[in-house]
Amino acid sequence: MFEKIVIANRGEIALRILRACRELGIKTVAVYSEADRDLKHVRLADEAVCIGPAPSSHSYLNIPAIISAAEVTDAQAIHPGYGFLSENADFSEKVSQSGFTFIGPKPETIRMMGDKISAKKAMQAAGIPCVPGNGDPLTDDEDANLKLGREIGYPVIIKAAGGGGGRGMRTVHSEAALLSAISLTKAEAGAAFNNDTVYMEKFLEDPRHIEFQVLADSHGNAIHLGERDCSMQRRHQKVVEEAPAPGITAKQRKLIGERCAKACRDIGYLGAGTFEFLYEKGEFFFIEMNTRVQVEHPVTEMITGFDIVKEQLRIAAGEPLSITQEQVTFTGHAIECRLNAEDPKTFMPCPGTIDQFHMPGGPGIRCETHIYNGYKVPPYYDSMIGKLIAHGEDRNSAIARMKTALSEMVIDGIKTNIPLQQAIMADSAFAQGGQNIHYLEKKLGIH
Ligand code: ADP
Repeated sequence: MFEKIVIANRGEIALRILRACRELGIKTVAVYSEADRDLKHVRLADEAVCIGPAPSSHSYLNIPAIISAAEVTDAQAIHPGYGFLSENADFSEKVSQSGFTFIGPKPETIRMMGDKISAKKAMQAAGIPCVPGNGDPLTDDEDANLKLGREIGYPVIIKAAGGGGGRGMRTVHSEAALLSAISLTKAEAGAAFNNDTVYMEKFLEDPRHIEFQVLADSHGNAIHLGERDCSMQRRHQKVVEEAPAPGITAKQRKLIGERCAKACRDIGYLGAGTFEFLYEKGEFFFIEMNTRVQVEHPVTEMITGFDIVKEQLRIAAGEPLSITQEQVTFTGHAIECRLNAEDPKTFMPCPGTIDQFHMPGGPGIRCETHIYNGYKVPPYYDSMIGKLIAHGEDRNSAIARMKTALSEMVIDGIKTNIPLQQAIMADSAFAQGGQNIHYLEKKLGIH
């Protein structure tokens, strides 16, 4: 096992990684920006190195500064967390070239999954169900493009191979709009991602977002930890996540989960990862793979009793997976509410000083946050300040525990989305489960 690692992230996930390291007896190096001196994990880490000014382009995205921090502290590995450099193949490559271990998959895997076309091709080859449409790059042959649109059937979606963060996509509802949509998306993709390759697939109108958690080691073993439902979204951002996904049968879980694990073995995947699917009319359609730990990993941990971050560290250190697929069991139901420093109605970020913080508790409640009384939420980064997770024997009990926990939680001094989360937990359609990815925006009156 490693003796010391660098945590190349901030906020709640940096604290989560630090806690996993403590349990495994690994020393930690926090790297932080000038705006983040007061982060909780910076105070708790064995060592801390300031890597630059507040803007993330000068700090959390500054590859040489992070690698230098590993060098000066004599660390052996770097955990990228999520966001920032976690899915940057060049970063993972430079980390390895500098003699450190990148806690995540190999650079070539990150690169392959970062390109939507190569990812789709690899998944099709591995037997993962994908959205209808062959995934070939579109050429300038207008007749061929019109023919493809007719074959797939409208509506279709034009997607940029290099797109990300919900950008570089355009829905087309009729043949008359197809050719101009292709040239527009190509032009935008070229400008935004420096890659104007686009492809066409079926646009699914009312899907749910269901994703599978996988873990793969360097000894050829790969397992899945079941699925999560992340359909409660606003502007493609997840707001509430849960596991298991309502209505998904044990048979479906086994079928798709095992295919994901097999795909990991086929491509030589290493570490923790997530296969994201759109789910419509009983069928799964792969959309992308995330090659890192996800914000919502705790709901899977709660129902499996398994620590995903500790396993990432073990895998990166070359150890075999600590459990087999047969040992993975699912108990009860878990829900996560993301806590954001934002106005609950306008969604405007609301940085500032937290005057009062009271953390909820009780059976089945887990609070992942770096905030404390007097902590100042800086304006430079994502507005998520924590996550509240409730586990219960079934979905209703998880919702009941979440409602109690939200009512106990006090965050004074800044605005938060707690009122929005309370409204979702009290919503009768949410209580039924299985709503699609448009439900939350419709409920909020955003169309
Ligand atoms: P990104 O990398 O930008 O997040 P994704 O491929 O994961 O791109 O897609 C982001 C979102 O766009 C999905 O969660 C879904 O809401 C929508 N989307 C993508 N592909 C389709 C599709 N074929 N049909 C319907 N919606 C889609």
